[in-house]
Amino acid sequence: MGRFGRGVFEPEDRLSKLEGAIGALADAPARFDFIGPESSGEMSFPVSLSAIPSMLRIMGPMRENMNLASTSVDENPVEPKVEVDEPTLEELRGYARSLGLGELGYTKLPRKLIFKEKAVLYDNVIVLSMEMDRAKIEKAPSPETRIMIMETYNELGIAANRITEFLRERGYGAQAGHPLGGVTIYPPLGELAGMGWHGRHGMLITPEYGPRHRLAAVYTSIGNLPLSDMNSHAWIGEFCKTCGRCIEACPSGAILDTPVSHENGVVTHIERDLCFPVFLRQHGCSICIKECTFNRTSYESLRSNWEG
Ligand code: SF4
Ligand code: SF4
Repeated sequence: MGRFGRGVFEPEDRLSKLEGAIGALADAPARFDFIGPESSGEMSFPVSLSAIPSMLRIMGPMRENMNLASTSVDENPVEPKVEVDEPTLEELRGYARSLGLGELGYTKLPRKLIFKEKAVLYDNVIVLSMEMDRAKIEKAPSPETRIMIMETYNELGIAANRITEFLRERGYGAQAGHPLGGVTIYPPLGELAGMGWHGRHGMLITPEYGPRHRLAAVYTSIGNLPLSDMNSHAWIGEFCKTCGRCIEACPSGAILDTPVSHENGVVTHIERDLCFPVFLRQHGCSICIKECTFNRTSYESLRSNWEG
């Protein structure tokens, strides 16, 4: 395992040994790692020579923040508070906006969404979302798009750690879930939080950003988060049945016409073995995000047409 892997996987694996940790189910899905512990432990996708300085500039802080997400749980209060009031939540939302985050989502974490051999300390989740640059997604696939995506991962990872600091300073326990990797499956968490609905490409589509964003999470001791008891975005599922634009645009044919539901409750939307070679060769691809109808037209106008 290389330096990148050691800095990320070892602290992450330690979480499952901590007292009170909530671990994955026996049949949990394995996380797919760009930086596999069985590989050299360094980033395993090819980078063009011109992109190397930018990628190196991003990867140092990225590793530090992935490491911090796991190691900083040692700073949690011994007896964390479990109730939050509305003024503190409003302050949290304002702080999140100042970090460049979109609307926060709140949900309970079903254990089936924890990756194999991973663990969280709390099952109350704050779901974070950060927009990706529209103009650079328009250039997908391109080196500029890939650098922008990595920068978004990095900024979102920093924001997730800042949110945990914010909560700890106010007496709550918190664990950051970094957007690159992470220990749980984020799009279904966003859906459970009522933030949006999954498209046929498997990504969460939200009114704020369509599919053009990245997700992360913060797990917290706060037991009275304002959970969403409904999701008003389920119509997206019906809309997708009439669309299929991402399926047609995907250069590898990786997006499944009919998603596959597994016994462990996880749903596969993309044939990873088809997507990944293209993803590697074509700068992180992202054509499915660029071409999604919800990236081309606003959520509100699609919704009013749909309802009309
Ligand atoms: S990233 Fe590219 S290859 Fe992979 S599913 Fe999206 S469009 Fe297809
Ligand atoms: S391109 Fe169309 S089918 Fe694919 S996720 Fe977007 S709206 Fe749904």
